[in-house]
Amino acid sequence: MKIACRHIGNRPIEFKLENEEMTFFGSIVFQKGSLFYLNGHIDGHFSAPCDICAEPFDTILDETIEILVSDGVYEGMDEMLDVVEVLDSVVDMETIFHSEAELIKCDYRRCPDCSKETVNY
Ligand SMILES: [Zn+2]
Repeated sequence: MKIACRHIGNRPIEFKLENEEMTFFGSIVFQKGSLFYLNGHIDGHFSAPCDICAEPFDTILDETIEILVSDGVYEGMDEMLDVVEVLDSVVDMETIFHSEAELIKCDYRRCPDCSKETVNY
């Protein structure tokens, strides 16, 4: 799903994408200047091997995604949220979904047993 920046105004545009593991849904709305505010949610689950014990385990996801999308290179640096730049004035939701999903997966690389041990140290 691709949304042209010029079509994003003060009325939020809703989106929903799915892959085998996750659903990404939410809306995007004009914020200011060349910035758009994306508020979304990723839920679903995925299975990946644990970094410590290498046992695959299942993780249930319920993550809020809040980012700013900049039409063109963003030069400010005072934003509270992560800024994702798009260079052709088109927001490609698949790309955002993919990179957010990868970030989330990096956060969950220890199975519950190994996480428990870390907490006890
Ligand atoms: Zn483990």
